[in-house]
Amino acid sequence: MSRYPDRYREVSVTDVDVPLTEDALRGLLTSRPVYRRSDHLVARNGGRTALVGLVRGATTGLFSAVDDVVLLAEPSETAYVRRPDVDTAVPSALLAVALADAPGARCVVVEGRYGHVSFVLDPEPVRVHVLDVVPPEPAKLVDQLTRALETADELPGVQLVPHVVPLASLLPAEPAEAYLFPCRGGGMEVPGAAVAYLDEVPPRRDWTLVGCARSRAIHDFFYDGSSHEEVPQVDMCPRALAARAVVPDGEVLLTKCCLFEDRIEVDGRTVVVPWGASFGELRQGLAAAVSLSTRAEVPT
Ligand SMILES: [Zn+2]
Repeated sequence: MSRYPDRYREVSVTDVDVPLTEDALRGLLTSRPVYRRSDHLVARNGGRTALVGLVRGATTGLFSAVDDVVLLAEPSETAYVRRPDVDTAVPSALLAVALADAPGARCVVVEGRYGHVSFVLDPEPVRVHVLDVVPPEPAKLVDQLTRALETADELPGVQLVPHVVPLASLLPAEPAEAYLFPCRGGGMEVPGAAVAYLDEVPPRRDWTLVGCARSRAIHDFFYDGSSHEEVPQVDMCPRALAARAVVPDGEVLLTKCCLFEDRIEVDGRTVVVPWGASFGELRQGLAAAVSLSTRAEVPT
């Protein structure tokens, strides 16, 4: 798994004029004390960068002796990236920069927002698959989880893997005469078919309901007497669609369900959040997905 600095500790950056080897850096860095909260040091010489772990000794006041140093990443495997838009205290944000701006580097040092510097060593994200449906565009669950991760400093680095299912792909090849969608908001159209929206309670006709179990219940309430046989349904609940998603062993899928209003459920390797989940609920869902995913590394 990826390594990051402890969030309460500081990473300092020093330009040095010795070679970026363990021996040379040991000679330099053990000769002077460091601030007692320093565990790591980014050493730079010219355009090259190395990451050093500090073995701290006796502490007096604010400062600690450096008993030894460990070269954690040498210049050939370290990239230094400037991204003033990125909060480097958030592992997922740091990891996203590493994967996008320095793919393949074993160590990526990022100089980010507020001038703060952090690093990720052996970047290896916790992959969370997200199943969502469109329209509306962009896929709302994927978009909101992406935004939640931008400030999720309590989680390790997560990479979302979107599985976005267009509602149109669920419709039969031979279109029905008319479709009933839950609401107009999505802007769904079907060429060659009449389209109506359940939330407008249109006059009853022979249609196919494209919706979830909750839409079905609303439909049956308004159009009393229409049995399931009379009104065919295409189930678009992401939770139902999740059963078909291909997720590699050990990875986790997160999706939403129309029937949940304020709770999160874990079902096997799937985390289900409410249809209109709040950011708080999305963070709970992400935390549940991370804990499921990391638990899987222990063979049972
Ligand atoms: Zn559902």
